[in-house]
Amino acid sequence: EESNDLSRPKAPLVPGVEYPDHPLVELTHVDKHFGDLHVLKDINLTVNKGEVLVVVGPSGSGKSTMCRTINRLETIDSGVIRIDGKPLPQEGKELAELRAEVGMVFQSFNLFANKTILENVTLAPIKVRHMDRKEAEDLAMDLLGRVGVASQANKMPSQLSGGQQQRVAIARALAMRPKVMLFDEPTSALDPEMVNEVLDVMVELAREGMTMVCITHEMGFARKAADRIVFMADGRILEENAPDEFFEHPQTDRAKDFLSKIL
Ligand code: ADP
Ligand code: MG
Repeated sequence: EESNDLSRPKAPLVPGVEYPDHPLVELTHVDKHFGDLHVLKDINLTVNKGEVLVVVGPSGSGKSTMCRTINRLETIDSGVIRIDGKPLPQEGKELAELRAEVGMVFQSFNLFANKTILENVTLAPIKVRHMDRKEAEDLAMDLLGRVGVASQANKMPSQLSGGQQQRVAIARALAMRPKVMLFDEPTSALDPEMVNEVLDVMVELAREGMTMVCITHEMGFARKAADRIVFMADGRILEENAPDEFFEHPQTDRAKDFLSKIL
């Protein structure tokens, strides 16, 4: 029987170095519309270094949009988003640099179809981080090993299962040495038997102290890995609580209704 909670405090990312807790991701009074549709309503959210946040809520509540604003895949109408204390740049080199610090894994497998698994992982470190090829390949092989797909390095994405592809997508994001990882329903397009191999990698990342924002319907993962659950409905954060509190004592009717449907 696995514990519902990870042992705290977590291991520092660099052994021997103590990091003070500080906000890595901060959304302050964020609002966003798509035309007449008000999709994010006064979102205030802080994710501290090493924290694992799980975002849940009904479909259409704005979870993906909120997640996408964090690396500016979506613009916002008002409010401020800070990554590691710095406001999100609008464009250009600064935005590219900041994006490199925010890793993202989506629901659909988004590997480059015409590149090998190894090339998928080395491409951005070489291009954006100006890593030399040998260094990038060593790092890629190390990361592919950690997610259990090193033996697939020279294959094309289509030769891998969905679960393997999602693990490559995680390795590819990690190769940029991100400060925070965003996951938007990374297991919801997978065959059921492949869900756990991806969740296990995410749990391992959480244990290592990675700062994570995870949108997921996998409540087992949420209970096991989350420090905090954020519940969204209709573009608002309605609840924010420790997993046990959220699952045992939801405060709002919306959350009670949501939990009654998924548990
Ligand atoms: P969730 O991830 O919680 O299911 P989304 O953030 O995907 O919710 O969507 C929130 C709302 O915004 C939904 O009503 C959705 O239809 C709408 N929406 C999302 N993306 C766009 C877009 N690019 N253009 C217009 N409407 C959008
Ligand atoms: Mg979504």
